[in-house]
Amino acid sequence: MNSFLPRIEISLSQIRENTQILSDLYLGKGISLMGVTKAVLGEPSIAQAMVQGGVEYIADSRIENILKMKNAGISTPFALLRTPLSQAESIVENVDISLNTEIETVKRLSHHAKKQNKTHQVIIMVELGDLREGVLPYDLSQFIRETLSLPNIIIIGIGCNLACYGGIKPDDKNMRELSELVNLLEKEFQIDLKIISGGNSANYEWFKSSQNIGRINNLRVGESILLGCETLGRKAIPGLHRNAFQLVAEVIESKRKASVPLGEICQDAFGNVPGFLDRGDHQRVIIALGRQDVQASNLKSNNQLRIIGSSSDHIILDGDDHNLKVGDEVRFSLDYSGLLATMTSPFVMKQFADSDADVVV
Ligand SMILES: *Cc1c(COP(=O)(O)O)cnc(C)c1O
Repeated sequence: MNSFLPRIEISLSQIRENTQILSDLYLGKGISLMGVTKAVLGEPSIAQAMVQGGVEYIADSRIENILKMKNAGISTPFALLRTPLSQAESIVENVDISLNTEIETVKRLSHHAKKQNKTHQVIIMVELGDLREGVLPYDLSQFIRETLSLPNIIIIGIGCNLACYGGIKPDDKNMRELSELVNLLEKEFQIDLKIISGGNSANYEWFKSSQNIGRINNLRVGESILLGCETLGRKAIPGLHRNAFQLVAEVIESKRKASVPLGEICQDAFGNVPGFLDRGDHQRVIIALGRQDVQASNLKSNNQLRIIGSSSDHIILDGDDHNLKVGDEVRFSLDYSGLLATMTSPFVMKQFADSDADVVV
């Protein structure tokens, strides 16, 4: 095994198994999945593991990530979760479906689709209370009417996104509201909406508890697949792997030192005046990883190592009872922010821990 440090070890087989279990579960009630790859920067082998696990679409918020996956040979339909007006031309060229909330943007997509002699599919997102993206239910009818009049655009579905900004829980009430909107629109415009995308990893509890999922037939799921949890309380989903990603860093110093700094305490490197609890001398371990890679609060040590603090390039750990030496490796699990940050850091090597990465690149 390559010993580059720091590195993030990625188990593709665990990601594939997580996807399989979730696909089977959701498909049991007729819900297809979009596997969301934005937290892993559209890493093609992870997308491939999701496809092998049964997702029907791959969704990402960034066109760059979608291009990376397409260039690596992933041939699933792609959905773009966030649609900037300025990228309309490239979106039409490279993406099958985009999620939309502004008619100006849909007009621009239509313009380029016509020019490229293509049809572009849109999912129109509805605001159901979370106050991130979405057309207000009151404006939806007009939005659909205008969209239907645009050439080379097909409304493939309707969706909503909860629990992302406002932390609003997907429940029977807001999901029923989405289903009712679908019924009304189909009747008013004599259309069939193929995809009714009810949300993300936060929809797990609603799905498990709901007697009637109504018209919802799709979810866009990232974190559940990658980290094995739902996202309202970060509770484990039974049967899923929670450690498909492991961050490994190197000990660069291990010494017995005081627990309170010596001298007058002023601002630290980030403008905070730190406070300290005097616990006497103890073993302090420094690892070569810092805020430039990840916030220490987004890490969880696999060996109950307590994190004392961090600066740009160093994280200090309480090394009592651990016997760590220079050059030793320390392993951490990551939360979603930690995953996002370390996957984005150019200093953290990505290593596939089991090599069924042979399918792509
Ligand atoms: C990020 C995102 C998702 C996926 O969210 P998870 O919590 O990772 O499942 C779904 N839909 C939209 C619009 C998103 O931006």
